[in-house]
Amino acid sequence: MINHTQRRVRAGAAGGFDVWTAEATTRGPHVVVLGGIHGDETQGVLAAGRLAANATVLTRGSISIVPIAHEAAYRADSRTSTIDGGNLARVFPGDPNGGATEQIAHHLFTEVLDGADLLIDLHTSGQGYDMPFLAGYQADIASADSLAKQAAFAFGAEFVWRHPGRSEGRTVSVVDQAIYVECPGGGSMSPASVDAYVAGVQRVLAMMNMVADTSSDTARAAIRVTGGGDLDHDMMSVQHAGLFLTDVVGGAKVHAGQLLGTVVATSGQVLEEVIAPNEAWVMAIKRRPPVVPDDLVVCLATTDN
Ligand SMILES: [Zn+2]
Repeated sequence: MINHTQRRVRAGAAGGFDVWTAEATTRGPHVVVLGGIHGDETQGVLAAGRLAANATVLTRGSISIVPIAHEAAYRADSRTSTIDGGNLARVFPGDPNGGATEQIAHHLFTEVLDGADLLIDLHTSGQGYDMPFLAGYQADIASADSLAKQAAFAFGAEFVWRHPGRSEGRTVSVVDQAIYVECPGGGSMSPASVDAYVAGVQRVLAMMNMVADTSSDTARAAIRVTGGGDLDHDMMSVQHAGLFLTDVVGGAKVHAGQLLGTVVATSGQVLEEVIAPNEAWVMAIKRRPPVVPDDLVVCLATTDN
């Protein structure tokens, strides 16, 4: 016996969000799946929506799904809010008396996330960056085991990215065990990536013994990398205004001294070269060419041993 509910949570000036919940009669872990924390990342919205509509048959525990966490950003196909410019992924746990985006974070935290045993936060690289298919989690030590680490590997992404430390305000920082996923986007969406997200969530639920494991495929052996993953901070920047031309793609392995991209003037004159300081993997690279000084263009991660 499974109980399905759908409710609308009202959350101040930004409106609110819909929550689908499925609960098995047998007690067990509570998992939360979020899509649309960033409004221009539609793979996660569609994957979370499909998971909600198909009413996952749980054998134990419960799952809450919010397909469009930030409706004000989603309506505008934007990473951030059109009401107050807020980046929902950076203002957790939010503030009931704060701006529109902080109010959304507050209601997501208090009414959906608080008490969850695992958060699966579905992002994609959006319109600004190219990223490989990855699952990220936080852990200071590579060898330490945790539900988040197991979930990151079970998801079946090409990369598992371990982030030492917890960065303030991030959605995945307010739930003890959390993963987020990213995949190539660039403003378009491949149906295969949505399928991969749906399959990834189901593999995590199977790993937690919450659904019957019907998958014939096991998660691939991921490339394990580590480093900071906050795209607002942990990236290499450029010093010149111009056009940034990339020499590598998301997911590429690069060696020390390798050219990652070039800033050129409209005349074609090279203003600046962006060089890899060490052997690394390209986890994010700017797609849209126009840049101004201090623009963030490349995020690298190193092999995690
Ligand atoms: Zn995102």
